[in-house]
Amino acid sequence: MKDLPSLPGQPRPVVEREQIDRSTLGYGSFDLGRGCPFECSFCCIINVQGRGSRFRSEEDLKAIIRDHAKIGVTKFFVTDDNFARNRNWEAFLDCLIDLRKREKLNFTLIIQVDTLCHKIPNFIEKCVRVGVDQVFIGLENINPDNLAGSKKRQNKITDYREMFLAWKKHPVILTAGYIIGFPNDTRQSILRDIDVIKRELPIDILSLSILTPLRGSEDHKNAVMGGIWTDPDLNKYDLTHCVIRHPNFPGDMLDRVYLEAVGRFYSPDHCRTVLRRTAALGSNKKIATMNRLLLYGTGSRLHNVFSLDGGYLRLKYRTDRHPGLPLKNR
Ligand code: SF4
Repeated sequence: MKDLPSLPGQPRPVVEREQIDRSTLGYGSFDLGRGCPFECSFCCIINVQGRGSRFRSEEDLKAIIRDHAKIGVTKFFVTDDNFARNRNWEAFLDCLIDLRKREKLNFTLIIQVDTLCHKIPNFIEKCVRVGVDQVFIGLENINPDNLAGSKKRQNKITDYREMFLAWKKHPVILTAGYIIGFPNDTRQSILRDIDVIKRELPIDILSLSILTPLRGSEDHKNAVMGGIWTDPDLNKYDLTHCVIRHPNFPGDMLDRVYLEAVGRFYSPDHCRTVLRRTAALGSNKKIATMNRLLLYGTGSRLHNVFSLDGGYLRLKYRTDRHPGLPLKNR
């Protein structure tokens, strides 16, 4: 980890068109930077990519966009965990503006940012100008004790609303990552917090997951060193299944509360509110918002998989079975 390779000039992540066509929304993806200076205890990024930041070059970015344009891919997920902390963000955005102007290339982007990005002068405006039309924000939780307990101290709930409203001045779909199953959580507190989010924050999509001690995270290290039981079945580490013994959720109760929380956020009434708000803001993202509400709202409940692992319909193959499960009768 002390000798990480620099990124400029490294192989570019262009997957084949057939592969992209197999995903529901048809996005290509790339990163412009790796590493994160923060130390959230549930996160494995800091042990996979390091805490120091490394960046690709503007030449790399141009080549990535051009390579994808050749195979007709114009939608991208930028996988930097926090694009707002990429110290070259403005140079990258200028480079994209240049590509649009000089080479007439057209594209849209999903980026991930933190809850303080709106404080960077001109950041949101320039992102939108470049083609950012969806933003993922690691909200994680609205309970300050839970945030402090997982060392996500940079998240301040007082900033949440201001930040979401700053993005909502533009036609951008806002997705917030949200984690349940923190030590202080109970069924009542989780459902109450979901109601607060629905009422107070103009989020379009809530991406819910269960707190999971992923391999490589501090939480996993502490569990192993403390001799705490974690489920040996790695199939369950998909963020929708409880893999620890939580004192407030005996048996599979947290799994059930997870589905209840998803149902609570994506209730027909709240989906209508989100769509009405989108229309009232004059956004051109009405169909896309409806589409995401369907994807996120039904994926876990219908298919029992994490929302991003699902689709509108799940294609099940007889021979694709979890290890240990018998082959299904034809
Ligand atoms: S959760 Fe996000 S902010 Fe926290 S360490 Fe991981 S990448 Fe960094």
